[in-house]
Amino acid sequence: MAKRDYYEVLGVAKSAEKKEIKKAYRKIAMKFHPDRNPDDKSAEEKFKEAAEAYEILSDDEKRSRYDRFGHAGVSGNAGGGGFGGGGMTMEDIFSQFGDIFGEGGSPFESFFGGGGRSGGGRGRGQKGANLRIRVKLSMEEIANGIKKKIKVKKQVRCSPCGGSGAKDKNAVSTCSTCRGSGYVRQVRSTFLGQMQTTAPCPTCSGSGQMITSKCNTCKGEGKQMGEETLEIDIPAGVAEGMQLSLPGKGNAGSLGGPSGDLLVSILEEPHPELQRDGTNVIYELYLSFPDAALGTSVEVPTIGSKVKIKIPAGTQPGKIFRLKGKGLPEVQSYGVGDQLIHTNIWTPKKISDAERKILEKLQAADNFQPQPGKSEKGFFEKMKDYFK
Ligand SMILES: [Zn+2]
Ligand SMILES: [Zn+2]
Repeated sequence: MAKRDYYEVLGVAKSAEKKEIKKAYRKIAMKFHPDRNPDDKSAEEKFKEAAEAYEILSDDEKRSRYDRFGHAGVSGNAGGGGFGGGGMTMEDIFSQFGDIFGEGGSPFESFFGGGGRSGGGRGRGQKGANLRIRVKLSMEEIANGIKKKIKVKKQVRCSPCGGSGAKDKNAVSTCSTCRGSGYVRQVRSTFLGQMQTTAPCPTCSGSGQMITSKCNTCKGEGKQMGEETLEIDIPAGVAEGMQLSLPGKGNAGSLGGPSGDLLVSILEEPHPELQRDGTNVIYELYLSFPDAALGTSVEVPTIGSKVKIKIPAGTQPGKIFRLKGKGLPEVQSYGVGDQLIHTNIWTPKKISDAERKILEKLQAADNFQPQPGKSEKGFFEKMKDYFK
């Protein structure tokens, strides 16, 4: 088949300027663009013919050879634009002349540069749903941090098909819509003119593949309900209501898509004897009146252990003893709270006659009359002092 004259192909005069040639090519390329003429062989031929003509006429050296020697001067030109063996592929045309479709920036950049196709090669199936669980922790676990192993029911990758959703290797074929590329081209009209963009193929969701026979286990979803034992690393110092997020530990995605996140909500199990107040823990100590008056030593619970503290003689109710550093750590920090021991005096509700006689003697004694001096502060003043 005789080759048409390149000037004729682009419809320009032999004396045409570069700008004119470019304009003419753009017009033809738009007209016969494969996206506008799907499955039209003659349009594709014209599109390729125009690209070939433009490749020669837009290059000064090739154009002058063509002007002198005709097609013979440029056919099989070594080091040329890849026409040697016979015709360009569409991909060649797009990669070489992509910029012809838009001034100042190639609309193909997004396509060749990977925009919109990031994240694990071809945009495969959908991301899995987030999985929410609640974890109840004791104060000891909160104080030290803990690795919890928790068995959860969740959607996992289907094992028979490995998440592909296909019955077997032969049950997968190349997507006919996108011919396996996973994307489709779209031409849009913008104020800059026609712009070409790419989008994931709607038929195959960007996988480039079609399943001809679905996996029996997952019915083509690529995932199934299962159980998994998750190890959750909970840092020290967490508190009720906090939420930890573990990316990728949630439900499996469909057709090999990324897994969702695991969201762990923290619940606190109340301690039988200690109360939490931020990073401090508070213990209510009850002393008998004789112990408070005479002094003693008592064992008090702390987080995970017990300590003995000395109660000096003459201890007033409301007195706060502090165990430095025996509180809870700040989450993901170096600070540690204290344990505060709040002193109460225990009064017996029933007493024997013998006890009554002793107490009645003390009741009359001058030394047992309340003498709150100015140094005796109330509980709230003491708490305020403490936190200064
Ligand atoms: Zn497709
Ligand atoms: Zn399956």
